[in-house]
Amino acid sequence: MEIIRKVHSMGEISSQILAARRTIGFVPTMGSLHDGHLALVRRMKQLSDVVVVSIFVNPAQFGPDEDYREYPRQLTRDTDLLIAEGVDYVFSPEPDEIYPEGPATYVEVEDLSTRLEGASRPGHFRGVTTVVMKLLQIVRPTLAAFGQKDAQQAVIVRRMIDNLFLGTELLILPIVRDEDDVALSSRNANLSSGERRSARAIYRGLFAARAAVEAGERDPEAVVRAAREVVEAEEVLRVDYLELVDGELLRPVPAVEGRMLLVAAVYAGSTRLLDNVEISV
Ligand code: AMP
Repeated sequence: MEIIRKVHSMGEISSQILAARRTIGFVPTMGSLHDGHLALVRRMKQLSDVVVVSIFVNPAQFGPDEDYREYPRQLTRDTDLLIAEGVDYVFSPEPDEIYPEGPATYVEVEDLSTRLEGASRPGHFRGVTTVVMKLLQIVRPTLAAFGQKDAQQAVIVRRMIDNLFLGTELLILPIVRDEDDVALSSRNANLSSGERRSARAIYRGLFAARAAVEAGERDPEAVVRAAREVVEAEEVLRVDYLELVDGELLRPVPAVEGRMLLVAAVYAGSTRLLDNVEISV
């Protein structure tokens, strides 16, 4: 496995792979890898000739008061994990490689970027789409894998790829959960043991709401309430948002029908956790 630090080196490697008519599978990450990331890597191994994983904590997607500096970084451990998975290249540039003159050119998907996560974290998705666009331009993957854990990100990246005719095929893979059903996240490392115990209520709440729909509940507010009650029963949890939205436009649904997402952002102490379930009627 090779670790690539420079944009021009990654570009040359991709050119050679593509000239040899081999496919590139790409998994963009911010590192501190867990089984959720590795599930994406394994799928890319199955589907493509060469696998590239990027590890880049993207400053442009963090707000001024967010945890960019504290975000966990463990490059040595991460590269060991990726060697064990048979990954071909890790692209891990410094921020000034990706933003040599400051992030002067932005890519933004309107409307979708201002809802949910975007409402709580202004500018976050502009940072995400800008860096994903840059990474896709550098790596030029045939196929790129993202996780359903970040459901809104997946919808927005799909829209960007479609709108800009980027041609990369997008694969969205299911949420990988720990044994206690908490969605794996690099930020889980920040939870105290009590917060971790309480965090299970997020999953329980989402699934209680889904069960309510399966049992015939058709009032969107009642569905959301079913989840909220379970989450709010835990003292250390604070709901940032919890909404039942349609799976494409991410707008709150007027009726319980079609393919929907119940999406949640919940603080456990000072750690912000995301989770979601799909609900289809
Ligand atoms: P991150 O390093 O948090 O930027 O995540 C990199 C990629 O891994 C994104 O596409 C995430 O959606 C995905 N991912 C993170 N956690 C999980 C998980 N628990 N299950 C599935 N995919 C995940």
